[in-house]
Amino acid sequence: MRKFLAYAIPIILSLAVGMIGSTIQTSALAEWYPTLLKSPLTPPAIVFPIAWTILYILMGVSIGILVARGDMSVVRLWLLQLLVNFLWSVGFFALRSPLAGLITILILDVLVFAYIVYTYSISKGAAWLFVPYMIWILFASYLTGYIYLNNDTNINSATAATISKQTYSMTTKTTTYTMPPLPYNSDALEPVMSKETIDYHYGKHLKGYVDNLNRLIAGTPYEGLRLEEVVKQSDGALFNNAAQVLNHTLFFDALTADSGDIPSELKSAIERDFGSLEQFKSEFTAAATSLFGSGWVWLIEDKDGKLKIISTSNADCPMRKGLNPLLVLDVWEHAYYIDYRNRRGDFVKDWWSIVDWDKVANRATKDLRDARQD
Ligand code: MN
Repeated sequence: MRKFLAYAIPIILSLAVGMIGSTIQTSALAEWYPTLLKSPLTPPAIVFPIAWTILYILMGVSIGILVARGDMSVVRLWLLQLLVNFLWSVGFFALRSPLAGLITILILDVLVFAYIVYTYSISKGAAWLFVPYMIWILFASYLTGYIYLNNDTNINSATAATISKQTYSMTTKTTTYTMPPLPYNSDALEPVMSKETIDYHYGKHLKGYVDNLNRLIAGTPYEGLRLEEVVKQSDGALFNNAAQVLNHTLFFDALTADSGDIPSELKSAIERDFGSLEQFKSEFTAAATSLFGSGWVWLIEDKDGKLKIISTSNADCPMRKGLNPLLVLDVWEHAYYIDYRNRRGDFVKDWWSIVDWDKVANRATKDLRDARQD
């Protein structure tokens, strides 16, 4: 009985901490997490609860081996790493602070490494049971670090930048990027895109990128450039936000409630390069449903005037490579999650019915309008 409890208590305790942590995570996963720029190596969401559950059980068995032998010397270290693991969930998901998440998970790396080293001299089996956990949290440290470095989420630095921009504006011409106007009412695209989706996707996500862009660009050499030039020349958080503004501008502007026939010149070009319109749609749909993680699928015109389908990850934009985007589909989760939940394929299928083909065709011959207000 004692031996049974020696294993059962740590396993149950580990899983309990894991369950509380995952409850916190689920609440953030619904709205905040899908908006972040994540590493292309981020596994599908379903991998996380499965991996954690297995790891918590291994963790419980590991300490159980020692406790069953009557060796309590590592229990405190074990409980401490479990507490830090929990604090990582709180910091990252509940407080929505990638920095707090990064700091706690780095501390966790050290504690888990110490646990393995210390335990190895007592029971090699118990130490080895912790190795998958060590590998997983090192990977999680990388994912957290990527999110921290590629997302501008620190409220304090945001406030500081706003203040410095105000100071700066007193002596220089104020240049701001503005929201691209929506060429339809926010409920016009229902049921493919509900008013609620437009309110969040356009009203909150895109608004956030525009606000970040204005804040980040202040005082940099890019200030005053056309949006397209900022996208071509900048890097890091500034590039991410500028490109997201440009990509969303192209996306929202070419949607309509009255999707008519494809203008004949564009249709011929599609037939020339894809064989038929149906073939083009099926290739584009396949690219959109198979794109891993967050990104965009494009119909572009290359320098020779040939049409091609390409996919880009996160905020990346084909204009950076000198390609002319004609049609674009946003396949970030935030584009369809409210209306379609995880059914990206259904969203893509329905999205064809709201494409504004006149706008798409016009892009093949006209310069892109940018989001700057002169
Ligand atoms: Mn989007």
